[in-house]
Amino acid sequence: TERKWLLRVNNIEVVYQDIIQVLRGVSINIPEGRITALLGPNGAGKTTTLRAISGLLVPEDGAVRDGTIVYQGREIQNLPPEQIVKLGIVQVPEGRHVFKHLTVEENLRVGSITRRDGKVREDLERIYHYFPRLADLRHRLAGYTSGGEQQMLAIGRALLAAPKLLLLDEPSLGLAPLLVREIFDIVARINAEEGVTVLVVEQNAAIALAVSDYAYIMEQGKIVLEGEAEALKENPDVKEFYLGTA
Ligand code: ATP
Repeated sequence: TERKWLLRVNNIEVVYQDIIQVLRGVSINIPEGRITALLGPNGAGKTTTLRAISGLLVPEDGAVRDGTIVYQGREIQNLPPEQIVKLGIVQVPEGRHVFKHLTVEENLRVGSITRRDGKVREDLERIYHYFPRLADLRHRLAGYTSGGEQQMLAIGRALLAAPKLLLLDEPSLGLAPLLVREIFDIVARINAEEGVTVLVVEQNAAIALAVSDYAYIMEQGKIVLEGEAEALKENPDVKEFYLGTA
């Protein structure tokens, strides 16, 4: 099928400390304007894959040893993270990392630091439109908001960097099911209304398959299965091992 790929990860190998091979030839294609999920158990290499894409592997610690990462037709596997952000690839890290001693709005403004187009006020209002809770809390110190609100804040902050490709690392982590649903629904709206392409890493396969178009399943540093989300939901192995519904 004819698709426009925003990002193509081709057979990458990632090694930590020169000897620990964590990714063993991983290939992932991300179609423009869609939501793609990367699923798999703890330690499979999902976060490492996101870091390879966003340039957030620490050079002395981990490196893409082989393979290419092609974004909008350009190889980026050797670019520093600040350049990758400017190209429009923005990662929301696992565990959120908001600045606890800044207010919610100050945290959001940090996300706009790489911008020069002066549209920050407008964008803040857009983020408050998607996350009304953040609007209510805009003057509160981030350290005094809940885990779910901090996750919203981390996503909102990433959006202020005007991403074309948003990388989400386990947005469901530690959150109550209803809140997880709310956050994923908002992500789906942002994708539909703003055209932001999303790659989401999740251990919660049920929620990720509910909102994504296509998914990859990773185990021990390799992609072991991929397909349309609708089809994967019906796959017997996925049902047994990832959805617990077999
Ligand atoms: P999780 O959901 O737990 O984050 P994951 O699928 O994202 O799992 P990674 O965090 O990518 O997995 O880790 C993959 C493997 O690489 C694990 O075995 C982990 O212990 C190892 N690893 C991660 N970071 C490093 C590092 N800096 N140095 C050495 N090994 C590492």
